[in-house]
Amino acid sequence: MSTLEIKDLHVSIDTEQGTKEILKGVTLTINTGETHAIMGPNGSGKSTLASTVAGHPRYNVTSGEILLDGENVLDMSVDERARAGLFLAMQYPVEVPGVTMTNFLRTAKTAIDGEAPSLRHWTKDVKAAMANLKIDADFANRNVNEGFSGGEKKRVEILQMELFKPRFAILDETDSGLDVDALKVVSEGVNRASEANEMGTLLITHYTRILRYIKPDFVHVFVDGRVAEQGGPELADQLEEEGYDRFLVKA
Ligand code: ADP
Ligand code: MG
Ligand code: MG
Repeated sequence: MSTLEIKDLHVSIDTEQGTKEILKGVTLTINTGETHAIMGPNGSGKSTLASTVAGHPRYNVTSGEILLDGENVLDMSVDERARAGLFLAMQYPVEVPGVTMTNFLRTAKTAIDGEAPSLRHWTKDVKAAMANLKIDADFANRNVNEGFSGGEKKRVEILQMELFKPRFAILDETDSGLDVDALKVVSEGVNRASEANEMGTLLITHYTRILRYIKPDFVHVFVDGRVAEQGGPELADQLEEEGYDRFLVKA
């Protein structure tokens, strides 16, 4: 079992008006095999948390820690984080002109594992994963994300996750802009990866909709840069009925 620990994390960004603290002491522990949902209103800092774990240079950690099995993630480069088993959707290129999906996937897989995958198994794995995610076989020869629709980009994100087999995946608003069919396909991919690879998942979302398909073990309500409340799946049901008002008053 592996553990991803976020300890009293404080994060600021530099703006024209000066330094702004966005994360105000976030503490969260995720074990492999667990699914955690972070839910919160817009602007509460959810994407900042994801970007900070991803190593986005814009976000300054002023105090606190992120540890993967005790190793300091904040000391790692973005590539080192991927090799350590963290999957962060936004670290991958939005569009890569002139690079086909096939080449990109194999190059990235080789970089993450430190060795090239056996060609025979790899080709089979890619085909099977694409079929599962209902991604047309033509996509293999298309350039990465070039002209992909929003829904296609999300499927390809999940395709990467299934093929790279990370220990932990952080999925930021993977549900946004998906119709119900795409949402089901994407959710099934996440569920497959959780089961097959014992992946730990941090599912960040504003809406409860995706939680009908991906059942969280833990729910964290995120308000104003911190976790305002933690609970089990019942907390998501409560949010669906009551919204975030109760937490906003408390914060
Ligand atoms: P969420 O994902 O929960 O909607 P964000 O992490 O995107 O929240 O944003 C949290 C707060 O930080 C917001 O007030 C947002 O305007 C601010 N913020 C985040 N990133 C930036 C940035 N790059 N520049 C300026 N403000 C930012
Ligand atoms: Mg603190
Ligand atoms: Mg966001």
